[in-house]
Amino acid sequence: MLKKNRIKSEKNSFFNCIERNFDKATKFLSIEKGLLEQIKACNAVYRMHFPVKLGKEIKVIEAYRVQHSHHKLPCKGGIRYSIKVNQDEVMTLAALMTYKCAIVDVPFGGAKGGIKIDPQTISTEAIEKITRRYTSELIKKNFIGPGIDVPAPDYGTGEREMSWIFDTFLSIRPEDVDALACVTGKPVSQGGVRGRKEATGLGVFYGIRELCKMKEDMLSVGLDIGLIGKKIIIQGLGNVGYYAASFFHNAGAIIVALAEREGAIYNKKGLNVSKVILHLKNTGSILNFPEAINIENTEKALELECDILIPAALENVINKKNAEKIKAKIIGEAANGPITPEADEILEKKGVIIIPDIYLNAGGVTVSYFEWLKNLSHVRHGRMEKRFSENMNSELLQIIETVCKKKISPEDKRTILRGPREIDLVRSGLEDTMISGFHKIRDIKISSKIKNMRTAAFVLAINKIVDSYEKLGIFP
Ligand code: GLU
Repeated sequence: MLKKNRIKSEKNSFFNCIERNFDKATKFLSIEKGLLEQIKACNAVYRMHFPVKLGKEIKVIEAYRVQHSHHKLPCKGGIRYSIKVNQDEVMTLAALMTYKCAIVDVPFGGAKGGIKIDPQTISTEAIEKITRRYTSELIKKNFIGPGIDVPAPDYGTGEREMSWIFDTFLSIRPEDVDALACVTGKPVSQGGVRGRKEATGLGVFYGIRELCKMKEDMLSVGLDIGLIGKKIIIQGLGNVGYYAASFFHNAGAIIVALAEREGAIYNKKGLNVSKVILHLKNTGSILNFPEAINIENTEKALELECDILIPAALENVINKKNAEKIKAKIIGEAANGPITPEADEILEKKGVIIIPDIYLNAGGVTVSYFEWLKNLSHVRHGRMEKRFSENMNSELLQIIETVCKKKISPEDKRTILRGPREIDLVRSGLEDTMISGFHKIRDIKISSKIKNMRTAAFVLAINKIVDSYEKLGIFP
């Protein structure tokens, strides 16, 4: 038992996998060893057990919050509800958050939380009780707050849990004028920002789309540029996988297979994503979709013929057992840590382009940053400038009509007059972040002659974190 819990020295722990990826990048940098050790280490691990009365029984719940890095505050990262939650996993996911935030330039240290429960087998009341109790445990130990540590959704959680967290925080800290910013991913009616829900999936779409625009990269894997007609397989139809699938489908890519826990479905001519979702809602499973064939062993779906494979569920799904059999030319890591280091090496030898998680799934935290800023600003979107921009646009239109002696159509007038809505700004901020992040990594890859995007992404992240330590001017 003791042996099982020994995390730090375990060679094959999830945390160690990330350390190995980190170490590969340090070979391209000349940074003091001690500083690198500090960046790698988890700054604080809070492991808790608390009792919750469920029906007549008292259940002891195991939960975690890990703050990987305090180089910037607040710490930021989701909370996952899964029966597989363990300390090693939460520590690793917290570390990934640190690198992710650095890559997309959001001023947070990385964190992650986890509660060891299966939300699909317990009642909504029980989930609420556990969420509220977990939040008060975090408050007790000063592990949550707008300037301390700001949770968000992750695997098994969503808007509903975030609003319970906010409500619990507010009831204990009513004097905190910034309480709304204690958690992100809230419903829009409770201070959330439009576009947060689909942000990770949309970020995945923007990142892969950018790679597909690169002529040399596409040439290296024998593909044409652009997304139209590209064959895609997506594993996991949760929030991230579902939105990614929809965006790719709408952009003209062909979703040939979708995989879920219970099995996968395949149609080489392409699946209609919204119809699959409807079928899933009606039957509780993606299997037996009329326009597809079933694949009982869901893992086999990863090995099917395709151009782009997008693992969007859990970690370690591509490992040394199946890496050789993967036929995709591009893998987009929508999930955190879906490829083990051993599989990484096999795939690199095969010439597969891997777009790493610490960049590709950063869309969620990017839009969380926008939500946090909105909450701290205490001002509704457009309150001050909306009317002013509309008046200016209206005057401009009149001048154009007079000068050109031509009438602008009412539809065009409406579009020009209204100015950007919150969702337009969120999406443009996200698109810009994903595009510029991609090119920063690619430039490092080319200039430092690095073989893969993951190592280049770690080089970028480490440099950014070292920069902020230097700006702090002190070493903790
Ligand atoms: N859970 C998401 C992630 O892994 C979002 C984190 C956040 O928004 O803070 O990136």
